[in-house]
Amino acid sequence: MKLNVVQPGKTFNCNQCGKCCSHIRGMMPQQDKEFMEKMAYGKLPLVQLTPLEKISFPLFDWEASRFKKWQREVNIDGKIKPSRTILDLNTNKAIIVTYFIDSDACPFLLEKKCVLYQTKRAYICRLFPFNRGPFLKTGSEPNKNNMFETCDGIKTLIPLIPEDYDSMVRFLSKAFPDSSFENSVQFDYITGWNNKTVIDLIKKKMIRPAMNYPYEFFLKRFENAEKIDFTDFLVESGYIDDKEKLIKKFDDNEDAKKIIENFLEQSLN
Ligand code: SF4
Ligand code: SF4
Repeated sequence: MKLNVVQPGKTFNCNQCGKCCSHIRGMMPQQDKEFMEKMAYGKLPLVQLTPLEKISFPLFDWEASRFKKWQREVNIDGKIKPSRTILDLNTNKAIIVTYFIDSDACPFLLEKKCVLYQTKRAYICRLFPFNRGPFLKTGSEPNKNNMFETCDGIKTLIPLIPEDYDSMVRFLSKAFPDSSFENSVQFDYITGWNNKTVIDLIKKKMIRPAMNYPYEFFLKRFENAEKIDFTDFLVESGYIDDKEKLIKKFDDNEDAKKIIENFLEQSLN
């Protein structure tokens, strides 16, 4: 099979315009919005705490902990608040799975530059210009027209991306030297891992999520409940024994590397 070799110079080049960090609310495909409106406000174990129009970048709980530390170091209020939680009726604890930055522009963007750029930042910062990777299973097939956000840097690359799925993935695996492609695959993997873990905890009766409560009542109970981050809960409940090891595996994109490698091997056979 013919390999897709990306021509020199035909790789993604971020011009550091800062646009992706200056409007961080509401970046969500219409289909996802409709699903969330219907399901995310009490019908599922994971409940959204903010109205749809206020939602911005999601931060995994362990990413939010880092941001809270970094914001003190740079003396900026990152406006980091919980965004999705499980109210566990077994322990009466609110288990916070994701946080968000409650701002129109990211508070860490100063004069078009990210003051946290030298840190690991968050996946959502590092996967741009992607809004999803090609392995995410949703209602819509991933293609070169629905995987990217508006970004000047990607405009010239889009016409070069093949239409055919296998060729497209091979192209993407070579065209993003900034690792944004790998980060998008890892971000989708962690999101899926979180969801699967919640289901597994329910099956094992390790949590009993409050569901179908009147939403205002749910919010009141959330306010009054003791709060715990998801990964801390996993350690406390004995579901995992080494949080730092898990985070390192995520940070190193170990899962994304395997997924991409397997795909490339299989698509050549
Ligand atoms: S990723 Fe795109 S929108 Fe963001 S700074 Fe780079 S060129 Fe600008
Ligand atoms: S932390 Fe930095 S990269 Fe992430 S959204 Fe804010 S300014 Fe952009």
